[in-house]
Amino acid sequence: MDSCVFCNVSLKRLNHLIGEDESSIAFLDRNPIARGHVLVIPKKHVEKVDELSSEELRNYFVFISRVEKAVIEFAGVGGGCDIINHYHPFLEESELVKKHLHFHIIPRHFNDGVFRGERLSLSDDEMKAIALKLSSILKNQRD
Ligand SMILES: [Zn+2]
Repeated sequence: MDSCVFCNVSLKRLNHLIGEDESSIAFLDRNPIARGHVLVIPKKHVEKVDELSSEELRNYFVFISRVEKAVIEFAGVGGGCDIINHYHPFLEESELVKKHLHFHIIPRHFNDGVFRGERLSLSDDEMKAIALKLSSILKNQRD
């Protein structure tokens, strides 16, 4: 879809790219609720999980699980993560942040205060440093 930001994401957000494979791509959320808050999208434009075929789902979730592993490593000792998908067709068009399917993968720590609704404001340098770290963890993963 031409009008979809996420369909054009690899070109627009190269600075914050974490990694990609044939069918999926991972990059930093522009308005993170935690350092290392990643979005993973299928390259194919769909709005929800059940629009993907079994094979596409398999590929997508295999990639999500690789990113999950990288995010947990990024979170450091004792760190965990949340994986979240929202489908909110009841929202007005203007309130919908993105209509392209995406999963949030968010590093978590005990009592970290994430989900109090605050977004972090990180400088572009900080975002680039986080993206670099996460992408190198992902790249160096062993199967
Ligand atoms: Zn799209």
